[in-house]
Amino acid sequence: MSDITLEPNFTDHPKVIGLSDAAFRSHIRGMCWCAKYETDGVVALGMVKRIASPESVSELVGAALWIQREDGQFEIKDYLHYNPSREEIERAKEFKQRRKGINLNATLCAALKKRDCDRCRYCGVEVDWKDRRGPAGGTYDHVRPISRGGSDDEPNLVVCCRRCNSGKGDRTPSEAGMVLLPEPSRTAVGTRQKTGEYAAENLQVNAGRTNISGQIQTSVTDQSPDPAEQPASLGSGRARRWRRVPEDWRPTDAHRELAAKLVVDFAIELEKFRDHEFRDPKTDADAAFRTWLRNAKRFAGNGVRKTGVVQPSHGATGFEDM
Ligand SMILES: [Zn+2]
Repeated sequence: MSDITLEPNFTDHPKVIGLSDAAFRSHIRGMCWCAKYETDGVVALGMVKRIASPESVSELVGAALWIQREDGQFEIKDYLHYNPSREEIERAKEFKQRRKGINLNATLCAALKKRDCDRCRYCGVEVDWKDRRGPAGGTYDHVRPISRGGSDDEPNLVVCCRRCNSGKGDRTPSEAGMVLLPEPSRTAVGTRQKTGEYAAENLQVNAGRTNISGQIQTSVTDQSPDPAEQPASLGSGRARRWRRVPEDWRPTDAHRELAAKLVVDFAIELEKFRDHEFRDPKTDADAAFRTWLRNAKRFAGNGVRKTGVVQPSHGATGFEDM
């Protein structure tokens, strides 16, 4: 079972606003049924008969909100554009359980913390295990992501600050343009870790993208890249059009500040933003992510949507093509 996602302008959409009350009710019941039984937006024929009169079905098909399939069942148009598929829900459940399993495995956690000296293996900063939300909070990262078959054992897990973890996302370090630092406990710097030298030295490993002065100002995951490193495709004059944010795009500190200001979960929204396929091609990822964060804030207070499944609209009228 999952929640359903509705755009704030859903009821005013031209295809919806003209529906009779009965058809509208049937449409909502259909969506709830799909979410409850995780059917990827397909309403079984037997259910259609229970929730919609033949007149309502005709109305919904006429409005192109429902489509009858060859097998007789009805598909709710664009359901998967706004809601997770069964596969995604199952995967999210599995990830959650595995993450929980890691955190409950005291022996494993102790070994990881000891091996990595409580330091992020990507930026070298000492993580704060008590910080459950902030960028310096401690997390465990699967070097090889779960989605690529990464295991939950010591060789594949590293201590990681939340900032690096959210920047890396569901990618390998090389895909994310990040460097996995050596184990501090096995290097000479491990003995000096308390001094902060480890962080300072290893921040330099990441190609000058980071610097430190008491605390990290920028990290490998949110660098303001050297223009020479900036992919030409993202240059202002030759911006390419995309539906899914380019792999080489990185959020900026301004995005983090905006998320903090709006009180939205940066890591979760970034993950969703990367996974989202936009219907209309975009060119400016920075602007798109700013809009995304604002939408996340806007929808956060909407009772219909919950943080776990919220998928902020890519525009004010997300249903325009529905
Ligand atoms: Zn880090």
